[in-house]
Parts: sequence; structure tokens; C-alpha cells
Amino acid sequence: MPPGQKKGRPSRPQHGRGRPHRPETPAPDRTAPELGPDGLPQVSLVRRGVDRWQAGHPWIYRADLNGDPGLAGGEIVRVTDGRGWFLGKAFYSKHSKIALRWLSYEDVAVDTDFFRQRLAAADAMRRKALPGETTYRLVHGEADQLPGLVVDRYGDYLSAQFLVPAMESRKELIADLLSELFKPRGIVNRSDVGVRNLEGLLPEKGLLRGELPGPVSFDEGLVRMRADLLEGQKTGAFLDQRENHVMASQYASGEALDCFSYVGGFALQLAARAQRVTAVEISDAAAAQLRENAAANRLTNLDVVVANAFDYLRDSLDEGKRFDTIVLDPPSFAKNKDAVAAAIRGYKEINLRAMQLLRPGGYLISASCTYHVDEQAFEDMLASAAADARRRVQIIERRGAGKDHPVLLNLRETRYLKCFVLRVL
Ligand code: SAH
Repeated sequence: MPPGQKKGRPSRPQHGRGRPHRPETPAPDRTAPELGPDGLPQVSLVRRGVDRWQAGHPWIYRADLNGDPGLAGGEIVRVTDGRGWFLGKAFYSKHSKIALRWLSYEDVAVDTDFFRQRLAAADAMRRKALPGETTYRLVHGEADQLPGLVVDRYGDYLSAQFLVPAMESRKELIADLLSELFKPRGIVNRSDVGVRNLEGLLPEKGLLRGELPGPVSFDEGLVRMRADLLEGQKTGAFLDQRENHVMASQYASGEALDCFSYVGGFALQLAARAQRVTAVEISDAAAAQLRENAAANRLTNLDVVVANAFDYLRDSLDEGKRFDTIVLDPPSFAKNKDAVAAAIRGYKEINLRAMQLLRPGGYLISASCTYHVDEQAFEDMLASAAADARRRVQIIERRGAGKDHPVLLNLRETRYLKCFVLRVL
């Protein structure tokens, strides 16, 4: 039950019409949007949508709207049930299958102060969860009640993504608020992501505010990292794995292998403990930054190989190589549900080979960021890989993204990252 609602029936509207006025049958599509008492466009839901809303799901699909509301997209709307009772406020998207993104169950003004408070609250949680940290995900979209907005903090610099039209059209407002609250030296816009296509938005990137003198430095445990916020992947680095990077050093020993290394989040941590580390990465740019990061940390026991990790694992087996620690942290293998079976096959192939390459007692740190493959499916795949590899395998840790990537209980999609620590017997 959402806060502010009485059990058993939808809350009464606080302004305007007190009497139900809409029939339960779907309304015809409108050409002129219906306006609520505060002048905001009004969007009503069919019963299934009302049930989803009241169950706390932050997304409402277009099929659950009571007809086409006749809006351009990007609006803040009043959400009502089929009879006109107020349910809350949401962002409206015209192109996406996800028509509404939850903002509030209360009839509050969604104004500058609303966004200021949400940004400040998101930061306050990180300060509690990660005291003293200066690099973290500051805003994690829906999970921070700021749908369609991602902001990563790298010390004095912020890197942001605006993923839905209603956030895109508030880009300047958000940039102003971020400047006011956090006084960054620069704010980068990394909205150059494919998901924007689903929203009818083109990819975009550049400097939004201030300056960006070059790659930025940040610490992970004892390792100093550098990442390019403008040209690097994601917002510059994979902050979701920060806590797992530091954890990995605990298990590192002997000969270590890090596949899908990017700029070395895992490889550098392994190198601080293991005798020798091989990092395998397919992108030349990432491999170059990795080499630089290794040199800056005076780590000379690290070899960077530019290769396809699938091939590298197969060739290593053929050549009879063995390792004591292996990390697998591939990119997402499935962007939609139809690709799940192929993704599982991909995961199984690399995990099976890694298990065969490990010496008895060796550790495998195996991650997946594919949210269509949930933790159980990932664990089942690992079990099947172990069986085919003819190895007994212990689960030592089941981990996820760091605390700065909160999971929203009613939005499984926010629980995308799995990271298992396994010991091969
Ligand atoms: N482990 C990194 C993040 C990895 S992201 C960290 O924790 O920071 C996935 C990386 O895999 C990207 O850098 C991408 O360039 C690389 N990659 C994608 N396909 C690959 C392949 N087939 N072989 C090797 N690297 C690949």
C-alpha cells in the first residue's frame, strides 16, 4: 500500500472534482489532453494499471492507460483511476512502451524544490552508506525516485545520463541543481546510449557545465584509477563493481587472469596481490588506458592482451595454461528476453572454460550484468558449467552492485548485477 492511501479504496482527490466521472470502459483516444485542477495533463489508468500502481510498481505500460492521452511526451502528469480519483504524479513518455514513470503518490508540486530535495536525499544516502567516498553513483534513476536520471560522481566531476524525455527537457534545471548542491568542476552529459532510441531521443554527449581537463583520477582501495568521462564506456567507469573490485584482491594469488578488463577495475586489484596477471580486453582504447593505469600504480606484473576473451580462454586451455584466480566480467549478453538463451550459452562457455583452467583451490569471480538473466538463472548456469567441467565448486560469496546502486524492491530491473565468488575444488 503506497503511503498516504487508505486501505481498500483509492485516495480522494485533494482538489477539484469530488465525484467519479469516468467510466471503466476504455475512453476513446483524445486529440486535446484533459487537464487536472492544477493545470497538469491528466492520464487515467485501467484497473490493471491501478493495481500495478497501488502495488508500488514504478512503471505503467501504455496498454494500461485508459486510451491515448493525446500528449507530446515529456510532461509531468496527474495519474487517476478510471473514475477520476487522484493516484499520484508521473513522467509521461509518448514513444516508449513504458508510458508512465512514478514520481509521487502525493499531490505535491513537482518543481525545482522537488528535484533539489530528491537529489540531496540521494546524496545523503551515499554519505551514510559509503562514508568518506568521493566516487559513487549519486543518482540511480527510479531507485532514487528520479526516473530516467543517472548521475555518477568522480570526485570533483559529475557524469550524467538523461534517459527519458521528461528528464531530457529538464537537463538544464538538473545541471543547475547539481552545480548548486555539489559544486562540481565539470558536469559531463553521457546520454549517448541506445536506450534513448526507445524514447524517441537521439544520443547526445558533451560538457554540460564547467570544464573537463582530461581523464579523471579516483581511488579504489589502494589502487588509483583513471577514466575518461567523455570518451570512456558508460559514464567513464563501471562504478557498480567498485566494491567487488576491492573484494577481488582478497582472493588473488599466483597466476591470475582478468577477462573483459576495460581499464583494469579488477586487473589492477589482482596485480596488487598475485604474482602475475593477464588482462584480456577487446578494445584498444580501454587496453591503452589500462596500461597507463598499471604504470601509474607501478604495477609491473601485469600483461595486457588485446583479444576476444572467448578465444583467449579456448586457446589457453589448448595450450595447457593454468591459473589460480580468474575474473569474468563480460558486457551484457542479452538486451531483451529473446536473447536470454544465447546469453546463457555464452556465460556457460566462458565459465566452463574458466573452471577447467583453474588449479585445485583456485578462485573464480564471475559476474553478469544482464538483467534478463536473474540470480537464480545465473547460478543454474554456473552449476551446469561445473558439471560439464567435471569440477566440484563451492559458492563463497553471492554479491551484487555496490550500495550506491540501490535495488528497488518492486523493480527487478534495478537488480541487474550478479557477482559470485567461487572456489574450484
Ligand atoms: N571488468 C570491467 C568492466 C568490464 S565491461 C570493470 O570492472 O571495470 C566489459 C568490457 O569487455 C568492455 O571493456 C568491453 O570492451 C570488453 N569486451 C566486450 N566483448 C569482449 C570480448 N569478446 N573479449 C574481450 N573483451 C570484450
